[in-house]
Amino acid sequence: LDPEAFAGDSHDVVDFLAEYYRDVDKYPVRAADLEPGRLRKLLPEVAPEHGEPLEEVLEDVRRDILPGLTHWQSPSFFAYFPMNASAAGFAGEMLSVGLNVVPFLWAASPAAAELETVVVDWMGKLLGLPSRLLFSGGGGGVLQGSTCEAVVCTLTAARDRTLARLGHEAILRLVVYASDQTHATFQKGARIVGIPPSNFRVIPTSAASGYGLPAGAVREAVERDAAAGLVPLYLCATVGTTGLGAVDPVRELGEVARRYSMWLHVDAAYAGSAAVCPEFRGYLDGAELADSVSMNPHKWFLTNNDCCCLWVATPRDLTAALSTDPEYLRNVGTTTGTPAAIDYKDWQISLSRRFRAIKLWVVLRRYGAAGLRAHIRRHVTAAKWFERAVAADQRFEVVVPRRFSLVCFRLRAVNDDVNRELLSAVNESGRAFMTHFVVDGKFVIRLAVGGAMTEMQHVMDAWDLLQGKADEVLQRYYQ
Ligand code: PLP
Repeated sequence: LDPEAFAGDSHDVVDFLAEYYRDVDKYPVRAADLEPGRLRKLLPEVAPEHGEPLEEVLEDVRRDILPGLTHWQSPSFFAYFPMNASAAGFAGEMLSVGLNVVPFLWAASPAAAELETVVVDWMGKLLGLPSRLLFSGGGGGVLQGSTCEAVVCTLTAARDRTLARLGHEAILRLVVYASDQTHATFQKGARIVGIPPSNFRVIPTSAASGYGLPAGAVREAVERDAAAGLVPLYLCATVGTTGLGAVDPVRELGEVARRYSMWLHVDAAYAGSAAVCPEFRGYLDGAELADSVSMNPHKWFLTNNDCCCLWVATPRDLTAALSTDPEYLRNVGTTTGTPAAIDYKDWQISLSRRFRAIKLWVVLRRYGAAGLRAHIRRHVTAAKWFERAVAADQRFEVVVPRRFSLVCFRLRAVNDDVNRELLSAVNESGRAFMTHFVVDGKFVIRLAVGGAMTEMQHVMDAWDLLQGKADEVLQRYYQ
């Protein structure tokens, strides 16, 4: 690596990206070219024999790659949940990939491992998490790449904690619980750790509970299973479900989990970010009953992908399930066992890992808690405006009351096909991108506000667009 060439290339890439961000609202938000195999046809069959200048590569990115991208950083991207990028997130990411150290062991990069312990405590305090989940309160946290990994790790910890008591044969009797709104990643995680598919309980939710997981129904299911000789293992509560932004009652679920010695995990992947504002902390009430909590700063906390915070109340459960101890990795942390010298390899699946802590640290320092609160409130205000606009238009209905920055709505009095047509028309326009969900058999359009560049005006423009397209599809429908 030649530092001079590195500086030149890096500047070129930064200039390229700055231009991209200046123009990002001019691209069709969803990939304009959806023809499968388009890119393969444009590119050579094999990698080049000799290196090529960066400017040629960037030119190909501009010509061949950008038209095939969906522009997640467009201010009119309202699909799925946001995947935030920010100047500080990018600066932090540059430091992370530029330094490229690997804090799998404390000794492998002591300051990187220690920064992670500091940053997860900072984050936990910012979100008002109970101290028992923080290093400073006897728990602790780790930065992983995704909620999926966090869920697999905690399921593994819960499984091994229980099997240590009951013997390995009991694995076929372990049961896990979630709602019909829980992210599919939980089902995948349960499969990965060997929970029999027949022992995955999906508890129905309804409009009556705001699509939150009813604790009474969980209790009944658990009692039925226990009476049948099964072993209730793990309950997943979600704060901010993917489809509707619903919230499970963490405290009530925590009480059920405690009573039956189940592991309670709180998945706050998207909405956890909102807890930086005191007015949203109530949704995490009861988190002191949780064995683990996770959230993704890469969704709505101005932190570039990837970054998932996982906090656990009893790190020992996690490390007992995930630690390895080969001679070639023995170091100070291994021999002293001090919590100040964490071997993060024992808190995750892989050995190698990224220096994510520096990225999140830069974000927290550059924006501060006040800046992050303003970011969340700006989007919530815009989503509230949108919700009111939808409710005031007789042709539409808001399907569930908005809690954070996600609004779920549909054209009322017409069938799903018309709603599908409306969503397609909006997305094909290239001026906004939204996705859908189905609840109680009804097709619902989701508008998730959260892009770092998204302002009130973009949400207003999206509403204008929706109204115009609604005129067109309804006219066709009633013709
Ligand atoms: N849980 C919830 C509530 C989510 O909304 C999502 C993704 O949107 C996930 C889990 C999956 O997150 P990840 O992609 O980090 O595994």
